Amino acid sequence: MRVGRVLHGSGSPDEPYGVNGPGLRSVVWLQGCTLACKGCINMWSWSENSVLARDVAPRSFARELVEGSDEGTKGVTLSGGEPLQQAAEVLEFVRELKRLQPDWSVFMFTGHTDREVLTELSHEAALLLTRECDVTVTGRFERSRRCHGVWRGSGNQQVVFRSDRYRHLEDGLKHQIPLVGEIHLNNDGTLIKTGFTARSVNL
Ligand code: SF4
Repeated sequence: MRVGRVLHGSGSPDEPYGVNGPGLRSVVWLQGCTLACKGCINMWSWSENSVLARDVAPRSFARELVEGSDEGTKGVTLSGGEPLQQAAEVLEFVRELKRLQPDWSVFMFTGHTDREVLTELSHEAALLLTRECDVTVTGRFERSRRCHGVWRGSGNQQVVFRSDRYRHLEDGLKHQIPLVGEIHLNNDGTLIKTGFTARSVNL
């Protein structure tokens, strides 16, 4: 499994509509995406050979993530790079995470649509990974359809509640004023920006 960035402590315990999903979360950006959406400002994640990238064993990475997470963390968010292009490894990671932290939720941003999962990706792991998620945000970022919705960068993208855990938030998506982003200062002095801006998709 090839990972780009990891961020602990995204969001806050009382914020259901945080830029990376509900509550306090750890975020994993997978490394590698072939979808090449025009306007993606997350281009560092496209190549598998970014300087940020590292190969991790899915199960030990799950343990590492739990150990590094902030107190009160409620789940993991998978972001791109493209999680479904490493579906088998990410599935193994998520299943181990759920074994370690059964109360954590899983939120996934993917450029693939549900139809593609069923018809084109044609491998079981992509479908199973999708089913492990509580919420997915699906579809390419389309610059011409840019919008300022909660969790979405363009109007074609769909927020899908796949379990009941956050279904009560669904109505709020229509009325909520979207948060724009977060900036985190790491211990090593580097910055991670995450979220949405008028010109961007999820970072
Ligand atoms: S927006 Fe997401 S799916 Fe599209 S190219 Fe960027 S990382 Fe890939």
